[in-house]
Amino acid sequence: MKEFGYSRATGVKEAVSLLAGDPAARFLGGGTNLVDLMKSGVEAPDLLVDVRGLPLDGVEVTSDGGLVIGATTTNSDLAVHPDVRRYFPALSQAVLAGASGQLRNVATVGGNLLQRTRCGYFTDTSLPCNKRVPGSGCPAIAGEHHNHAILGGSDHCVATNPSDMGVALAAFDAVVSYETVDGPGELPLAEFYPAVGDTPHVETALPAGALITAVTLPATPIAARSRYRKVRERASYAFATGSVAAALDVRDGVVHEVRLAFGAVASRPWRAHTAERSLTGAPATAESFAAAADAELAAANPLPRNGYKVPLMRNLVVSVLTELAEEAAR
Ligand SMILES: Cc1cc2nc3c(=O)[nH]c(=O)nc-3n(C[C@H](O)[C@H](O)[C@H](O)COP(=O)(O)OP(=O)(O)OC[C@H]3O[C@@H](n4cnc5c(N)ncnc54)[C@H](O)[C@@H]3O)c2cc1C
Ligand code: SF4
Repeated sequence: MKEFGYSRATGVKEAVSLLAGDPAARFLGGGTNLVDLMKSGVEAPDLLVDVRGLPLDGVEVTSDGGLVIGATTTNSDLAVHPDVRRYFPALSQAVLAGASGQLRNVATVGGNLLQRTRCGYFTDTSLPCNKRVPGSGCPAIAGEHHNHAILGGSDHCVATNPSDMGVALAAFDAVVSYETVDGPGELPLAEFYPAVGDTPHVETALPAGALITAVTLPATPIAARSRYRKVRERASYAFATGSVAAALDVRDGVVHEVRLAFGAVASRPWRAHTAERSLTGAPATAESFAAAADAELAAANPLPRNGYKVPLMRNLVVSVLTELAEEAAR
């Protein structure tokens, strides 16, 4: 590992000025992703600015039931927070479905949003990869891609975003707040991860050197009855092969409102707007849920070895929405 400097920031302005003008400097959250990438040589920062001492830790409830989540809140503290469990249970479930207890105890909300893909070619510096070395190629397309994207991919990269937390945040219209040397800014999560196109190395719309300070979830009454379901190759300590965050409001047997987001199928948490539109006003039946999933997945463009994700996602949607509908009917 290359030698690097280390600085522990005590204030937000100090943290952003330490990074300003140094493209090789990085913020350090829990280090659970960044330090691994430094060991493998994918990342080689000359300076780490540790943000864990910043006053950005904790969850606040807004007067109408929304949440403001500090960027250095650990994944564990977020998952067990009583108001997260009460107002956004799918978010708590998503965080608890990720990594392990030890990792969640140190991993932060900001770091989780910016964790890098788990594509094996990306983490192996002896191989080409358009995301790591722009223009070098994407060996995953003709090679190992069984857990790669089926939606929103491009000929330049088919990697998935690995975050579980991000899927629940996408379902509930989260907004990311950040600070730069030029002042604060905000990005809806829907705009946070740009489309892959021919620039897979551009992974977020954050300005250079931006420090994530908080994630806001607007008050979303439907989220109080929400669920996160993750399918993975091992029962724990494994990234998703497919996941769904869902919330459902059924009135007189008809879908009044629905939220749906998919994980592990695209370069970003995938908000299933087409399925939501197809379901709103439809009978709350397994047939409608399947038709909505099919409408969303009609845009899927699987590779030879990841086509299984299409029926997997369809079955996940039907099963989670059926459970939510049955609970609403009790
Ligand atoms: C074995 C293993 C299994 C895992 N399984 C899962 C899983 O199943 N599901 C899942 O979702 N995740 C999983 N993870 C990933 C884990 O959730 C992430 O590593 C973690 O959330 C990253 O948070 P961190 O604070 O440690 O980030 P760091 O590693 O500290 O940072 C990650 C990136 O974010 C940047 N950064 C950190 N904080 C900020 C900030 N406030 N503002 C701007 N930039 C910032 C860093 O510069 C770096 O680029 C797993 C990780 C491991 C090692
Ligand atoms: S899928 Fe993306 S991350 Fe993986 S090898 Fe291709 S370009 Fe690299």
